[in-house]
Amino acid sequence: EQEKEQKQEQQDDKTAAHVIVPYSVLCKTFEACEATTKRLEITEYLVTLFVELCPDYEGLELGIGESLLMKAVAESTGRALKVIQKDYHKTGDLGTVAKNSKSSQSTLFKPKRLTVTYVFKTLKRIAEVKGNSAQANKIGLIKGLLVACEDNEAKYLIRQLEGKLRIGLAEQTVLSALAHSVVLSKPESAKMKTEQKEERLSYAVDLVKSVYNQLPSYNMLIPALLEHPLNELQERCQMRAGIPLKPMLAHPTKSLTEVLDRFEGHPFTCEFKYDGERAQIHKLPDGSIKIYSRNSEDMSVRYPDVVEKLKKWIKPTTSSFILDCEAVAWDCEKKCILPFQVLSTRKRKDVKEEDITVQVAIFAFDCLYFNGESLLQESLRSRREKLRNGFQETENEFFFARYMDTNNIEDIQTFLDVSIHSNCEGLMVKIYDGEEASYEPSKRSRNWLKVKKDYLGTGGVGDSMDLVVIAAFYGKGKRTNFYGSYLLACYDPDSGDYQTVCKLGTGFSEENLKDFYDQLNQHKLPMAPRYYQLGDNAETPDVWFEPKVVWEVKCADLSISPRYMAGVGLVDETRGISLRFPRFIRVRDDKEAEDGTTNEQVNFVCSF
Ligand code: ATP
Repeated sequence: EQEKEQKQEQQDDKTAAHVIVPYSVLCKTFEACEATTKRLEITEYLVTLFVELCPDYEGLELGIGESLLMKAVAESTGRALKVIQKDYHKTGDLGTVAKNSKSSQSTLFKPKRLTVTYVFKTLKRIAEVKGNSAQANKIGLIKGLLVACEDNEAKYLIRQLEGKLRIGLAEQTVLSALAHSVVLSKPESAKMKTEQKEERLSYAVDLVKSVYNQLPSYNMLIPALLEHPLNELQERCQMRAGIPLKPMLAHPTKSLTEVLDRFEGHPFTCEFKYDGERAQIHKLPDGSIKIYSRNSEDMSVRYPDVVEKLKKWIKPTTSSFILDCEAVAWDCEKKCILPFQVLSTRKRKDVKEEDITVQVAIFAFDCLYFNGESLLQESLRSRREKLRNGFQETENEFFFARYMDTNNIEDIQTFLDVSIHSNCEGLMVKIYDGEEASYEPSKRSRNWLKVKKDYLGTGGVGDSMDLVVIAAFYGKGKRTNFYGSYLLACYDPDSGDYQTVCKLGTGFSEENLKDFYDQLNQHKLPMAPRYYQLGDNAETPDVWFEPKVVWEVKCADLSISPRYMAGVGLVDETRGISLRFPRFIRVRDDKEAEDGTTNEQVNFVCSF
């Protein structure tokens, strides 16, 4: 079967004028990237790979459970499941266990070598398997791949299946490498002088990154890069409804005077900062509606009621659009916003309209795309105008974000008080006119400032942090049956590592303790993985977890400590930042571990 499929693929590859790439080439690149932490070296490995090939890409939701993978490894290598489990507890990396299990296996027949296309297609099939015998079918497909693995292929295949390649490969590095490879693969690049080449490379990197920000789809970006000149890229890869953009983010500030100082001389506008969940709402030209989370996850099934009601807010002249909004819990009788905690009780998946108990209202604060045209480069003033012209408020359902344009500090203070009385979190203050008032996808911009009620005038730490739970300590006394405290970490996007930042044991309700115990036990690891940076002489936790769960945490102060590693290298060569008196605020299930507070942000708050 495999042979038949591979033949078909070779045919497909030929017709598509693609190169047939052995999977081993990709795994060797993974190995080289994993062996270094230097971004330049990683870029170089990727450039070499991309110059030679053109991998197709599509977002796959793999994340196959480890028990299923262990079963597949056992069955495909003829080793007992118990032995595999034991090895896994010793090494902590199922990929390495798979590789070692393979190398101790003698095979009679040599299966055909895997190609990247074949592995990719099979991974896709595995991700898509549904139905009664899904488990058995998945195991069957995985076994098929494992049997054909050689050298280090099993190691990376298993890691890809687990959904955690973790070789320190950040998205920005992939984009730079893509841009470099496009320039360097052109014959004329060999004749260029160093200076000219550098200029060309830097132009390509900026261009590829900015185009990807507007159209984050490798499926569209890569063919355009391969088939057309660079200077046509922007035009060929324009943003469109149906492809979610990474949202623009704001910088924290501590006081209104700080806002006025920062924006001196620039017209700005103040908006209510609604306390709910970010919702990017798309209407495609075919009339379909999609709602995406802060994370570009499709949330349309979470909000069937919003999708249904949406027709009423759209004026007849409006065809396609992308709106940036906040979805908040809403009391239809009292006509007021309900606190975030109410929204978090609404079901996340498989929501049926008749079962909905928590109503939501949408507050739109930006319009990024309208009737087939990108508005990203336009000023906020002009985007707001289009938003207000193209849509209409509907009772209990859809509103424009409340705003006030003034630079009088007393008026802003009053507006802030009103926002807080309306169950909002504070204000968002944004530059209104000129180039700086454009929409910057995926950027934490200084042109948007957030002023939260919680950190005004406290003299304490500026912003709450969204930290990843990486380990736990067993509880005592009342908490005997649960975890008593947790070890939290921030994310370093450069290395892909998690750096410890505090031990947390305060702010939990009894219900929280039980829920978190059950939830986190699903993510147990046999030991601390290599991508956790731990401080010296730090207390050793009882249980380690995969980086899956994100919690919002507040603290009274920060200190520098050798026992924690947050921001190490930024504040001090060997010591990191740690939170003093941290307190649990809420679960951030709209954030993945990689979207949590970064080491740089912790450092920023520290210097705040
Ligand atoms: P961040 O999004 O900055 O990483 P976060 O997710 O913890 O941090 P906040 O710090 O609370 O969120 O602030 C930003 C969020 O506020 C936005 O992502 C958006 O969901 C929400 N928001 C509410 N009202 C507005 C508004 N008027 N303009 C922009 N964002 C708003």
